[in-house]
Amino acid sequence: MSENKPAAAKGPDFVRAIIAEDNANGKYKGRVHTRFPPEPNGYLHIGHAKSICLNFGVAKENNGKCNLRFDDTNPLKEDVEYVDSIMEDVRWLGFQWDGPVYYASDYFEQLYQFAEQLIKDGKAYVDELSADEIRDLRGTLTEPGKNSPYRDRPIEENLDLFRRMRAGEFEDGSMVLRAKISMDAPNLVMRDPTLYRIRKAHHHRTKDAWCIYPMYDFTHCISDSLEGITHSLCTLEFVNNRELYDWILENLNLYRSYQYEFARLSLTYTLLSKRVLIQLVQDGIVSGWDDPRMPTICGIRRRGYTPESIRDFCERIGVAKADSVVDWSLLEFCVREHLNEVAPRAMGVINPLKLVIDNYPEGQVEEFNMPLHPEDESHGSRKVPFTKVLYIEQEDFRENPPKKYFRLSPGQEVRLRYAYYVTCTDVVKDEAGNIVEVHCIYDPATKGGWSEDGRKVKGTLHWVSAEHAVPAEVRLYDHLFAKENPSQVEPGKTFRDNLNPNSLTVCEAFLEPYLATLKPGDKVQFERLGYFCMDPESTEDKPVFNRTVGLRDSWAKIENKG
Ligand code: ATP
Ligand code: MG
Repeated sequence: MSENKPAAAKGPDFVRAIIAEDNANGKYKGRVHTRFPPEPNGYLHIGHAKSICLNFGVAKENNGKCNLRFDDTNPLKEDVEYVDSIMEDVRWLGFQWDGPVYYASDYFEQLYQFAEQLIKDGKAYVDELSADEIRDLRGTLTEPGKNSPYRDRPIEENLDLFRRMRAGEFEDGSMVLRAKISMDAPNLVMRDPTLYRIRKAHHHRTKDAWCIYPMYDFTHCISDSLEGITHSLCTLEFVNNRELYDWILENLNLYRSYQYEFARLSLTYTLLSKRVLIQLVQDGIVSGWDDPRMPTICGIRRRGYTPESIRDFCERIGVAKADSVVDWSLLEFCVREHLNEVAPRAMGVINPLKLVIDNYPEGQVEEFNMPLHPEDESHGSRKVPFTKVLYIEQEDFRENPPKKYFRLSPGQEVRLRYAYYVTCTDVVKDEAGNIVEVHCIYDPATKGGWSEDGRKVKGTLHWVSAEHAVPAEVRLYDHLFAKENPSQVEPGKTFRDNLNPNSLTVCEAFLEPYLATLKPGDKVQFERLGYFCMDPESTEDKPVFNRTVGLRDSWAKIENKG
């Protein structure tokens, strides 16, 4: 996908088309009720944002409702920390769920009663085979499965065993409750799927009330039904589970919700699996769930992404039935577009080189009033001090410049942004031959950064007054993974081998004073360097800025050619 031509979705996607048709046919009397059902076993990532924008989006467009429901049926992996972060992230993305927050665990008693009902109807049985034995008897795509020897237990015995499972009489893994469907169903999901298992574990909400827990397939459809969900939107890997979804609701004679599957989001240079993300955090490969390199909502928020840009991204990628990989640069395009509008401009030098103006009066300070946004006056302006000794970017000086290098080099004249024209006269080197100072003279007749005689310069540099410079830490980021498809792992290696060793570069920078007045979370463009966001680790003495995204830099091209 080209960065210049981001895809704009054409017409309504297939989910919206289905909803429009259902509304036209009066299938749910015009009602649209969706839900976003995260499992609280990790932080939300950009893939979840796609699901959030879809579920809350279609509800809003149809004057419908969208529930937030925690699918909390696995006590071993779940935690309130995740519950809190998920609520925060959904709100931050700009959505508000209808009614209270729902929890699958609130339905545990009802789910249990429904399971008993299936047993009483002869549609479920307690199986004492081990997990391995169940797998062995399941068959394959080409071979039918075989019945468990426990499949035809009398109903009374099943009921008695299931009640004793609940009472805690049996050990983990010693038995399960299975639906009695068919061991030769073409769809493997339908071969007597497990509905309940024993797990003597503490649950973050129900505490120790339960030692049996319902499986996803049993829980999800019933939760949807109890909440009156009309369109249950999930990702493609659940296509085969739809038959079971329908079977459970039909055999329990419950209100019919319907499941529809859409393609999950995959991004280049990114892994969107909670299993992987949790390992990155636990192994200290990143600083936490909100490390700005993480594809988590809290990570990209800290990086400086805005809710507007993420919603824009989700709109552009659309919703389809076939899996595809989206270029990370499309996400960058979206945030750049939004920050271009809303971020004020300022100057910071991230790899400083001293620039001394030999003919500028010692001790003199001039204050230049500079606009905070070149196109939008409503941003106002800030004052920037100018003095004899400045910092410029090391990259902006070359002793031996390549052709078409329009920045500073001996004899060359450039503009210091909004200040003066300067011409380079000399360089000072240390013993090792490194340039430590550049000397120049300025033309007082070019105040404000333009010349009365109409003389033009091709280069404009950003700068900071040395005396007023605020030392800061600036963190530059690259992709966390070096491989475009990091899930492709070579034999004998793991996803860790695909990590990018240069994903973080820390710079000791100097900033103009205005930047020290910002607050954590504030966004700003450092002229010529990109968009940045002040990090919560900033202190009064030392601000910290994360680079959200670079600007498209025409100089880089010239550099490469030169
Ligand atoms: P992961 O693979 O990261 O563990 P998950 O699907 O197990 O994700 P859930 O918490 O169950 O995570 O997801 C909540 C909702 O978000 C589900 O409806 C799921 O289909 C959807 N979702 C998860 N990942 C993506 C993705 N990459 N793209 C679109 N939707 C997603
Ligand atoms: Mg899941």
